[in-house]
Amino acid sequence: MKSKADAESHPVIQKHKLPLNVVYCTRCVISNQRPRIEFDAEGVCNACRFAEMKKNAIDWNVREKELLKLLDEHRSKDGSWDVIVPASGGKDSTFTAHQLKHKYGMHPLSVTWAPHIYTEVGWRNLQNFIHKGGIDNILGTPNGKVHRELTRLAFEHLGDPFQPFIYGQKAFPMQIAAKYKIPLIMYGEDGEVEYGGDKKAIGRCGHDASGDLLNHYFSGIGPLYWTKHGIRAEDLHPYLPPTQEEAQKVGLKIRFLGYYKKWVPQENYYYAVENAGFCANPDGRSEGTYSKYASLDDRTDGFHYYLAFIKFGIGRATSDAAHEIRDGHIDREEAVRLVHRYDGEFPMKHYQEFLEYTGLTEKRFHEVIDSYRPPHLWEKTDKGWKLKHQVS
Ligand SMILES: [Zn+2]
Repeated sequence: MKSKADAESHPVIQKHKLPLNVVYCTRCVISNQRPRIEFDAEGVCNACRFAEMKKNAIDWNVREKELLKLLDEHRSKDGSWDVIVPASGGKDSTFTAHQLKHKYGMHPLSVTWAPHIYTEVGWRNLQNFIHKGGIDNILGTPNGKVHRELTRLAFEHLGDPFQPFIYGQKAFPMQIAAKYKIPLIMYGEDGEVEYGGDKKAIGRCGHDASGDLLNHYFSGIGPLYWTKHGIRAEDLHPYLPPTQEEAQKVGLKIRFLGYYKKWVPQENYYYAVENAGFCANPDGRSEGTYSKYASLDDRTDGFHYYLAFIKFGIGRATSDAAHEIRDGHIDREEAVRLVHRYDGEFPMKHYQEFLEYTGLTEKRFHEVIDSYRPPHLWEKTDKGWKLKHQVS
């Protein structure tokens, strides 16, 4: 048996400062292993507290007035683009771009950073967003050779193959904003406050170009880190946000629509179906969860959620069930049942494709996965790996 000191030295525990005693929120199903989340004296997570504020403490009329003021400052008079909406064509970005255009009279340019490998439904939704939703779009697709290499490196060294996508998803809309001199970038929700994270983010309408990209989105490791692993700096250009100087010249500001309008993913789904022909997952649900309408466009994203399950003991069903409790769609008992049934389901559907994409052998793939299991969360039994704690 490993000593406590050994356990504490595991890289995942060190890096994310994971508490060794696992505690679950008394209201939702999230645990204290989610990076940056905090629990109060009553054992309630800050995402649940924020959900409470959304219902009781925030005056949404006042917030909408703030939105109108912001948009009035930026709305173009000649119909030229006046707001950048980072968009995948999913339900949330469809809601954001479509509302800005049709309800608030803005002229959005949506900017898409391509998934690693498009799913059919993801591609169809982007096309519906453009053609049925009536939104202008720029699609950025990175150099596939570099992107594959980065994906493999990020899988091996960070335990998250999705990191190169996240770099571009953040940096590319900012680059386009700087290039076209459009200062305002409007995202959907602020994940840090909606799903639990850095409490400093509560009450913020957005941030400037520097934000806290490095810690909140890049796991503390920026794109240029990968030059240490043989990626050429010039090939990393698409992954880098504009320099401070470039951003200041344009006056870049990043805002979250979820600050100004009450954010309910399920309602965004109905809105996107009605206004842009959005399609849910044709398979009925996504692997690792019971939900059918979130994160549909990338064949590799099941591995992002699976690795989160390995590193933190909480997977895709936990995240989905937690926010559905907060939105009042399901109760905790049902959520627990859904987590037990679906959390950590292996993303079998695109497994072979993921191996081909990254060039990993099956053996190496499992070596990497197992290296990310923190000893306070996992134990090896004769039947294989088993989680030591589960929500109940
Ligand atoms: Zn909670």
